[in-house]
Amino acid sequence: EIYDVKAAGADYLHFDVMDGIFVPNISFGIPVLKSVRSCCDMFLDVHLMVTKPVRYAEQFCLAGADLLNFHVEADSRENIFEAINIAKACGKKCGVTLKPGTKAEDVLPFIETVDLILIMTVEPGFGGQSFMECQLPKISAVRAAIDRHKPSCELQVDGGIDRRTAPLAKQAGANVLVAGSSVFKSKDRAEAISAIRNS
Ligand code: ZN
Repeated sequence: EIYDVKAAGADYLHFDVMDGIFVPNISFGIPVLKSVRSCCDMFLDVHLMVTKPVRYAEQFCLAGADLLNFHVEADSRENIFEAINIAKACGKKCGVTLKPGTKAEDVLPFIETVDLILIMTVEPGFGGQSFMECQLPKISAVRAAIDRHKPSCELQVDGGIDRRTAPLAKQAGANVLVAGSSVFKSKDRAEAISAIRNS
């Protein structure tokens, strides 16, 4: 499946780690990431839906992540900064993520430190949910803050992205789009990716 989406034109592989505590579901973790790394040269964007991710930051780096993404809700601000510092010391990129109920302002302390900000457009934890259009004003607000404080920071959107919702996220200011079901469940993945990219 990974080789297939790479051939279909995906830029990154987005890797959703769920611990059964921060979110109700459990997905996969460090050994699976290591296996993926060993057979894949794609950029591995690791989204940690994990409580107190500072505990595992170094292990995910050593397992082959290219970017670690930490939820701002997952620990104290101090510990999220410590997790970011661990990722940077390992030579990796890092990001912070906001759940739908979290305010745009909560990302401000991190903007100048991170390479990417992720705004969730579904409640994290399960695939196949619908895009929450109520998050669009938050995407615009974070885009404005990025333009003001750190224009090189990427703005990623994750949840319910398909050819219909991608233009809404892009118009609001997102420049990295995560797509799960709309690509993996498509019969023609190259067409699905290009429809999202060119929407
Ligand atoms: Zn994700």
